[in-house]
Amino acid sequence: MATIAFIGLGNMGNPMAANLAKAGHCVQGFDLLPENLKIATESGVMVMANATAAINGAEIVITMLPAGRHVVSVYEDIAPKAQKDSLFIDSSTIDVDSARKAHEIARRHGLLSVDAPVSGGVGGAAAGTLTFMAGGSTEAFAKAEPILQPMAGRIVHCGEAGSGQAAKICNNMILGISMIGVSEAFVLAEKLGLSHQALFDVASTSSGQCWSLNTYCPVPGPVPASPANRGYTPGFAAALMLKDLKLAQEAAQAANASTPLGAHAAQIYNMFNAHGHGGDDFSAIVNFLRGDLPE
Ligand code: NAD
Repeated sequence: MATIAFIGLGNMGNPMAANLAKAGHCVQGFDLLPENLKIATESGVMVMANATAAINGAEIVITMLPAGRHVVSVYEDIAPKAQKDSLFIDSSTIDVDSARKAHEIARRHGLLSVDAPVSGGVGGAAAGTLTFMAGGSTEAFAKAEPILQPMAGRIVHCGEAGSGQAAKICNNMILGISMIGVSEAFVLAEKLGLSHQALFDVASTSSGQCWSLNTYCPVPGPVPASPANRGYTPGFAAALMLKDLKLAQEAAQAANASTPLGAHAAQIYNMFNAHGHGGDDFSAIVNFLRGDLPE
């Protein structure tokens, strides 16, 4: 069993750290918010006074932080003090440039590193069924894989440094676009006098099928477990979808890739957020499209 530092014990980090502790690892956690430290203590994580104390004696360091600037700043702080040959795993969703910068900081200090963002949300983090998309050397990935196991349903090695973040933003760009597409179809169906259930019964088994329709249906009824049936409480908040769509657009601009629908999806979620819906589940976009979308 390993000694693991876990930095960033928020909505995702706390249940992930809890699963590592449950698997028998010694988890030394740190977060800036005292309320998150309290939750961590209750799930078997040893709470430390700061990030430097958390990495003391740790052969693995996991970060689960809001954005690229937080990750780079924490890496700059702790990489010089980390145990030699330790492995840094960043599971935050961040921009590809910051991810590569974080790898470079680790490399400069003789540390192995992987970017390993996740999909599966808070539910997947609690259940230990997250999908990890990892980027980094074969050696780093081989060391990371057994550590990620207690938190994971699936672990995919996507390629070299930054590839995990690239996979994450490409996947979520598909998700944002497809959710808008499915929602538009329901709004059109309503105008045409077609019931939600009838559209679902046809499209979910035809060429329109996709995760946004079959598993996460944006209207109440056809898929009882989808957030539409509980007043659109997340789930996956629209603010996080907007964050990921913006990351995809930044990457597309930097790489000179043409992503017109990704750009439009980012604009639509931007308006939705600006109207105060950032805390709603992202599938609530269907209500916005139905009537409130400004010109
Ligand atoms: P969160 O805001 O709940 O947690 C982030 C935590 O990092 C906070 O508790 C904050 O106090 C802490 N933090 C910030 N700076 C710190 C520092 N310097 N040292 C220590 N702690 C620090 O966010 P979350 O929902 O847990 O998401 C974390 C990451 O995972 C984000 O990048 C997010 O995009 C990604 N993600 C979230 C979900 C989701 O459904 N919530 C799903 C997939 C990926």
